[in-house]
Amino acid sequence: MQKKFKIISAILGDSYRSNDEHLFACPYCRHPKKKLSINIDKNVYKCWICESTGKDIRRLVRRFGDFNQLQEWDTLTNRVNITDFDDIFAEKEEPSPFPERLDMPQGFASLNNEPSLSATPALNYLKRRGVTETDILYWKMGYCMEGRYAKRIIIPSFDINGDLNYFIARTFSSDPRKYLNPPCSKDVIFNELYLEWDTDLVITEGAFDAIVAGPNAVPLLGSTLRSNSKLFMKILQKDTPVFLALDPDAAKKEQRIIKTLLNYGVEVYKIDTSGYEDVAEMGREEFTRRKENALFVDESDYLLETAILSI
Ligand SMILES: [Zn+2]
Repeated sequence: MQKKFKIISAILGDSYRSNDEHLFACPYCRHPKKKLSINIDKNVYKCWICESTGKDIRRLVRRFGDFNQLQEWDTLTNRVNITDFDDIFAEKEEPSPFPERLDMPQGFASLNNEPSLSATPALNYLKRRGVTETDILYWKMGYCMEGRYAKRIIIPSFDINGDLNYFIARTFSSDPRKYLNPPCSKDVIFNELYLEWDTDLVITEGAFDAIVAGPNAVPLLGSTLRSNSKLFMKILQKDTPVFLALDPDAAKKEQRIIKTLLNYGVEVYKIDTSGYEDVAEMGREEFTRRKENALFVDESDYLLETAILSI
């Protein structure tokens, strides 16, 4: 307790005490008065001015302290030490079997402005799924009427430079292959161009879920969240709080992802998706409500839960 207080004081400076809490100057909003309240026993903090809050003080230590302070903190809290992030960042990339540049699929037509009559089936499909005109504009959606991706909705993904790095191709006809992959790696951050890393990030299963969960939502594109993936590394680098909103039938996958995130000290929340097939089916209003009630995944709770499930 005293040792933890010493670390925090070294990072945040002077404080005064009020009951169980210590009040410091807030490093987020830099308000001149000491309004950041920290309760070391309960491992929580909150700023009364900018409302920055956290359920793990480690977050403050990591963000505003130095590496030694974080290590010391981890020793005090018995956290598994990740002494070297370089290990995972340095993991060698496999040579890509795909062409260097990805182009929009042949026959791509935008659904943005005054789409032609041939766009009607595509638009009807989107409407049925609850996708609004605003979504269509925001996600720069289009469709194809010919070629390999004929009769599919196309949702393009742009990297941080605005270059196409992926696209979703979802059929709006009766094709049993719901999705066709583009000729590129799946290890992309879907529409990174639109994402912000210093605020809550929602992770969903598919792109249609991300549309409902957005604006700051990213789909996993069906895969898991590997610790050497671009998305995972970015979350770590930016210390982004993650809200998981995976399909209710993906419990195992969710567990693995939570475990990986917790291992690396990411703040994780779980959004209840039960009762629906996925977030897309849930709709915006219900999703917003459930996000507000998201469950903070405490490491100890989580390990307990895993233990019970494995019996
Ligand atoms: Zn503040």
